[in-house]
This record gives sequence, structure tokens and C-alpha cells, in this order.
Amino acid sequence: MDHDIQLPRRVIVGKDVLGKVGNICEELGFAEPVLLISGPQVMEIAGKTVLKSMLDAGIPTDIELITTTDPEDLERILRAASQFRTIIGCGGGKVIDVAKWTAHKLDLPFISVPTAPSHDGICSNRVTIFDSNGVHYSCAATVPEVIAVDMDVIAKAPFRMIASGAADVIAKLTAIADWKLSHEQTGEPISDYSAALALLAAEIVIKSAKSIRACEEQGLRNLIEALISSGVAMCIAGSSRPASGSEHLFSHALDALWHTKKSLHGEQCGVGTIMAAYMHGMPWQMVRDTLKQLGAPVTAKELGIPPDVIVEALVRAKDVRNDRYTILHAQELNTNRAQRIAKATGVI
Ligand SMILES: [Zn+2]
Repeated sequence: MDHDIQLPRRVIVGKDVLGKVGNICEELGFAEPVLLISGPQVMEIAGKTVLKSMLDAGIPTDIELITTTDPEDLERILRAASQFRTIIGCGGGKVIDVAKWTAHKLDLPFISVPTAPSHDGICSNRVTIFDSNGVHYSCAATVPEVIAVDMDVIAKAPFRMIASGAADVIAKLTAIADWKLSHEQTGEPISDYSAALALLAAEIVIKSAKSIRACEEQGLRNLIEALISSGVAMCIAGSSRPASGSEHLFSHALDALWHTKKSLHGEQCGVGTIMAAYMHGMPWQMVRDTLKQLGAPVTAKELGIPPDVIVEALVRAKDVRNDRYTILHAQELNTNRAQRIAKATGVI
């Protein structure tokens, strides 16, 4: 089978990047007109600067703001976007996901301008969207043609988003352990290069935990580059395998079970990584201590989720994706064993 690797054409990480988006688009010659998808608040903080740079570059650009990811809102955005030929998403994880999904549905080029480092969707070829009822759409999506990250904007993101993004990168430790396990036990093909890249991203974030916590420039840059690398690892693998293993299945199971949740994707995956590392016989204490150092949740209480829901999610996680063999499938957890794991790791 051909190995068809699609990668972003340009990745720009630096200062005053928002004001350069217009010039980059002009240089790369994207089709016009362009639709800028953003959120009401983030439009004020960042979207306006992107819009100005587009108009200054002489590129006709219009705006659509999203407030929810409910089906009506998604349909409205999709209808509006059908009049355009290039999509820019400027905002946090939700905005980026909706913009990426829209671009994919209409087969349009997509430009990602993330304003918060909350997860690795900023660069990946997959998208997952939740509406307020917890219903989610997860599908393959267009790889962004451009990723433009303004570090001044990222530094002002709520710290919780930053810690959540770091936890989503640390999750690659168990995602890769699961991939290797599946390779050994089921013969699933593995891309050594993309596995190594995803692991490197996790290792750099772990080493940078203190600097990320202090919101130092170097720490935040390492985090952004790790999130991008993790996305690139997915592009190389052609699937989310290098970025998503048992810890992500646990998080998806939580999403299905606990609709009133306020916890973030990366936060849930972080807690999932502690338990998955324990199951793999990996140094789970190091995972927990690093997450603590980052200020990310390490217990059910800190996630705001009842202990019995955590246990049920751990039991059900393997059913989220039966085509993705992980330690959960190897160990076939029942409630008692799941409870023991959650207790042994201090999660409940
Ligand atoms: Zn993730």
C-alpha cells in the first residue's frame, strides 16, 4: 500500500504572527474569498488582527463566529462557508475543530491559528466535536495547510488550557506503549519514526514541566512545538495511533458517561495516562508527579467527576474502539480490577 503522508506546508511559531497571516496567505496563493471562523471573545483578542492582516493583503475575507457546537450551529457555519474557498480557524480547541471540520466537509484548504495550546488538534488530521449533549463527531479531516502560532497570544491563554495541552502530550507515553503492545500481540503495523516523534514530544514536555508551569517563553514554545510534532506524528502514521491509546479511550468513555463534565480533554487524558501507565508497568508515579507539577488534575475529585464514573469509564473504555488494541483489551478489566487500579494510583 502507498504511504501517502500529508503535512502542513508552513508552520510559523513566533511573535506578532497574527498580523502576518494575510501575507502568508498571499504568498501561498490560497483561493479567495476566505472565511475566518472564530469565537465572540477570541475575535476581539486575536481574530481582529488576523482579519486586518487579510484585508491589508487585499484578500476578501468574511467572518463567522461560533458560540456552540450544537448541530444547528455547525449547519449554519457549513452553509455560510459553502460560499468561500479557503477557511481560517482562529481560536481555542473548539473553534479550530469546527473550522477544520468545515474545511474538510467542503474540501477546502484550512489554516489553523490556535490561540490556546489545549490539545494537539491544532495540527492533526483528525477532528472530534462535541455538542452540549455530549454527542460527538470524530472523523478524519484536512491537515492544516498553514499553522500560525502567535506566542504572545498563547502566553495569555488561561493556564488551565496550557496544562491541559501539556497533559495531552504526556499521554503519548501510553499511546505509544499501546501501539507497541498491539504491534507485538496483533501484528498491527507500526511506524517507528512516528512513534519516536510522539515519544520525543512527551519527553520534552516532561522535561519542560517547570518552565511550562512558570509560563516561560522556552517552556511554552516547547509545548507548542510538541503539540505540532504530535500532529505531524499522526500525519506520518496516517492515523491518530501515535497520539491516542488507552488513556484517550478512557477520556472518550468519560465523555459518553458524564455529560455535565467541566473537565478538559487533555485533563482527562492526563488522568487516564496515570492509570494506563500503571497497567503497563510503566513509571506511573513520574506521570502523576509531572502532571501535579504542571498543575493538571491527577484525581477524580480534581477532575470534578465521581469515583464510580471514573471506574465505569475505565471498564467501558475498551469498547469505545474495538479496532484499536490497547492494554485495556489485553487485560479485560472488570469493575473490581478497575477500582483497584484507580485506587492504587490515587485517582479515586
Ligand atoms: Zn488528545
